[in-house]
Amino acid sequence: MLVIKFGGTSVATAKNIRLVKDIILKKDKPVIAVVSAFGGITNALIECSEMACSGDVGYERIYDQISSRHIKTVKELITGKQQAKAIKEISIPLQELSDVCRGIFLIRELSSKTLDKVLSFGELLSSTIIKSYIQSEGIAVELADSTQFIETDNQFGRAQVNFPLTNKAIRSYFKGENKLWICPGFVAATKQKEITTLGRGGSDYTAAIIAGALKATQLEIWTDVSGMMTADPRMVKSAYIIDNISYEDAMELSHFGAKVLYPPTIQPVLEANIPIRIKNTFEPNHEGTTIAKKSPDNNKIITGLSCIQKIALFSLTGSGMVGIPNFSHRLFKALSLAKVNVILITQASSEHSICVGISQADSKISKAAIESEFELELAAHKVDALQMEENLSIVALVGSKMQQQVGMSGKMLSVLGQNGINIKAIAQGSSEKNISVVIEEAETKKALNTLHESFFLSEKKQVNIFMIGVGNVGGTLIEQLQQQKSYLDKYHHIELRVAGIANSKKMLFIEEGIPLGKWKDNLLKSGQKMNLPAFINKMETLNLRNSIFIDNTAEQSIASVYNEILQKSIAIVTPNKIACTQSLASYKTLKETALKYRTQFLFETNVGAGLPVINTLSDLIKSGDEIIKIEAVLSGSLNFIFNNFTENVKFVDIVKQAMAEGYTEPDPRIDLSGVDVMRKILILIRESGYEMELADIKSNSFMPAACMKTKTVEDFLKKLAVHEEDFQQILKKAKAKKAQLKYVASFNKGKAEGCLQMVTSEHPFYNLKGKDNIVLFFTKRYPEQPLVIKGAGAGAEVTAMGIFGDIMRIAHG
Ligand code: ADP
Ligand code: ASP
Ligand code: MG
Repeated sequence: MLVIKFGGTSVATAKNIRLVKDIILKKDKPVIAVVSAFGGITNALIECSEMACSGDVGYERIYDQISSRHIKTVKELITGKQQAKAIKEISIPLQELSDVCRGIFLIRELSSKTLDKVLSFGELLSSTIIKSYIQSEGIAVELADSTQFIETDNQFGRAQVNFPLTNKAIRSYFKGENKLWICPGFVAATKQKEITTLGRGGSDYTAAIIAGALKATQLEIWTDVSGMMTADPRMVKSAYIIDNISYEDAMELSHFGAKVLYPPTIQPVLEANIPIRIKNTFEPNHEGTTIAKKSPDNNKIITGLSCIQKIALFSLTGSGMVGIPNFSHRLFKALSLAKVNVILITQASSEHSICVGISQADSKISKAAIESEFELELAAHKVDALQMEENLSIVALVGSKMQQQVGMSGKMLSVLGQNGINIKAIAQGSSEKNISVVIEEAETKKALNTLHESFFLSEKKQVNIFMIGVGNVGGTLIEQLQQQKSYLDKYHHIELRVAGIANSKKMLFIEEGIPLGKWKDNLLKSGQKMNLPAFINKMETLNLRNSIFIDNTAEQSIASVYNEILQKSIAIVTPNKIACTQSLASYKTLKETALKYRTQFLFETNVGAGLPVINTLSDLIKSGDEIIKIEAVLSGSLNFIFNNFTENVKFVDIVKQAMAEGYTEPDPRIDLSGVDVMRKILILIRESGYEMELADIKSNSFMPAACMKTKTVEDFLKKLAVHEEDFQQILKKAKAKKAQLKYVASFNKGKAEGCLQMVTSEHPFYNLKGKDNIVLFFTKRYPEQPLVIKGAGAGAEVTAMGIFGDIMRIAHG
């Protein structure tokens, strides 16, 4: 005997029912096909009866829709005389449904018993229609009546099956070789033949009950996905099908919300060791998932992730709880008498507090039940006032092999923490088949995706970038991101998305990622007015996992919001030096905030553009080295300018060229005054672990004072032209000494300065070409021969590359 079940979507339309028929007819008989109500009908029946109960005549409209949908389906499936016969056949239950709804409307009462009666029409109608359709194709088929063989108690809405009686009844009901039955799922009846239902999604259970009783060879659940997946595919796009799964893991996943299987379904087939196949009606050739005692080829520690939304958490605390005998027993008894299903429990070992997670729909009755049970203790302040939090969700990591593996909960908590997801409660079943955490409902999608990426390594990790500043550096970075997209995807399983971009005028957000080939057009045409608080707000509300904020500007206003951004657990990558060179206190605050919110603040490109200066320094310090002295040429722009400045060209023209080629800050005075270099050496000093302010660095400006007093860049360039002779004089002196002009920054014995030096041929800086930078670190481990880092230290390409490097560090972190 084979039992196959088709869910709501599989029978939602005439077209789908044709597919269902094809699947059924391919099976060797005897076959029992259990069917759900047409997709959406159960919800419509609930809506209809609730409207009727509230006295809203609109219920008639819903009824009409239900009725006409069934009639229309019959007309699409069956023709001629048989059509008339089938319509007549369903007109009887349709009339009865209309009468029941009218009764509800007149009496304004909807008991759970009446609701079960109403809901039963969904499956009754669908099974009747499917039976008539198959019959009309000339195939012998019988309609089975579930109320005749599934006997339950009278817990309407979620009736409990009397298995001994039901099993016996099923065995005597389904007799005969070579037969095909169509059977309504979900519905059952009490001993007195009052209609009951088995709980939402209960058609799976009907099929399992029948399969278990008949010791079927297999139970097939045909639905709209190709199997049980590693996570709910509506929440996690990268979820994938689990080929084989054990009964216990499948049960755990479904218990914690994997809707594809109604949780009680496993029990009846588990005892008889009947395998369950989950198959897709719309992709029948897909192997689907096999649920059986052992999962042969599944070596994964974690099988899947589930979640239940709309959860409420109750906490009962109080010092008086210690020693109150039977405290937890009384709590659970009170909830059980109120028919509340407890989904999660945590109790501190001190016994001062106990926390239970329940469905939010039960929160009112639970509160009343607990408060009444502990009325005396509450009045005597032995127990504190009951605390309740709503709009939460439970996320569960499931896998029976977790028992053999240490560190799973640690990893789960740390992954969630890195994404700023706050955990309200955590529970690990004593069997260690699952670890569940309670979080804010709004964080569910982010939590599931982050966990999925961390625990199912073969899948992709998504990184979401928000970028302000899309000029020279930003634009180049976007080009590089676009160019590397498929490489990163293929070899690093990293999907980089640019979810937001902005320049000073406009900002644009696309959650699925801005098409990088068209960002300019999109920003221009679809961008909204740029507003920094709105930009931050949008990053927060999108709440995407692995979010990185990139500041490609040199703006103070943007640096001043870093702390706020880090507090949202959004990482920051920036070439903007301002944040790291403000007061020591604010530099420290940023570092501490990043640490506290378990995110990263990376600024490799603050010194030497893409050269690995800060990361090297960080490695030295982390591994216990000490910086004794630093000597460096840190201004790619000054180096470019002095390397190209000769008697035959004007100083101002070289400055203009450096600006045009993107080697200077947007305001070249920052470079020429030496301020940029002072900022860079300050960052190196601070990263070395020394405490210093910008004002402590001695600056020896070579610039004529008049030039530096100018208000605009334009004026500044004009003044440079006026002072050409001053610059020629400097050059002459250097020539006379056969020296090169280098703006050198140094740090030694607690003192730092920046100064234009004439370096002669024996000096390591003498041969520094073009826009190159060089840094010499003299450390405890490199006392005589310094650690040297040298190379291009300015330019959009290398700066963008340095930012890219920081992005990858975060992506891999
Ligand atoms: P049916 O009507 O066929 O019984 P359901 O809607 O009850 O179908 O269950 C199938 C749906 O369950 C899928 O469409 C999918 O969106 C959802 N689902 C949730 N979690 C999972 C999971 N882990 N694997 C597969 N599907 C899941
Ligand atoms: N029709 C019922 C429901 O929607 C039962 C089922 O489809 O499994 O819950
Ligand atoms: Mg279902």
